[in-house]
Amino acid sequence: MRLLLMGPPGAGKGTQASRLAETLGVPAISTGDIFRTEVAARSPLGRQAQRFMTAGEYVPDEVTNEMVRGRLNEADAAEGWLLDGYPRTLDQVGVLDDVLSASGHRLDAVVVLSVDEDELVRRLTERAVTEGRADDSEAVIRHRQQVYREQTAPLVEVYEKRSLLTLVNGSGPVREVTDQIVGLLHGDAPARS
Ligand code: AMP
Repeated sequence: MRLLLMGPPGAGKGTQASRLAETLGVPAISTGDIFRTEVAARSPLGRQAQRFMTAGEYVPDEVTNEMVRGRLNEADAAEGWLLDGYPRTLDQVGVLDDVLSASGHRLDAVVVLSVDEDELVRRLTERAVTEGRADDSEAVIRHRQQVYREQTAPLVEVYEKRSLLTLVNGSGPVREVTDQIVGLLHGDAPARS
């Protein structure tokens, strides 16, 4: 299974990625987590990424793409993966396509979590208190939503054209959202409201 998890900051990608990875038996690869680990280790990559992250901007494509290429070539990713937070730009979509075609694989699905913006800001403001992330201040939270709208939301259409989209309402309880995603991936009919 090769899966992408998309959605604006605060939609619950990280939470759902770890739960899904366990259920599906593939590694969850979160570019945000990798960057945060590198920043904490003060590595050269961390030093490059830090100022962009703190400002709520995307780390430049060249840097991010190289990191992801390396990660996807690791042994545990040979049989499948779930990418959380990548790709986020059209350039990254192209690189992922190249990585996939070079290994003779293709994407199985792109799950998009949606949550309305007031709820996103509320969740992230709460996370600022519980996790103390440097990019969870209110101004940066709003900026990250804007960057998502401008640079990442257009990717939904790209994957829609490829008939890969699975749209999921991410505002319910964590378990229900996971169950809904797993059901949809297994081909259940979408719930009607
Ligand atoms: P996340 O934890 O996924 O919200 O990511 C936190 C931050 O890491 C983002 O605001 C970006 O600065 C950086 N980042 C994560 N993934 C990417 C990506 N695919 N492209 C560029 N920057 C990224």
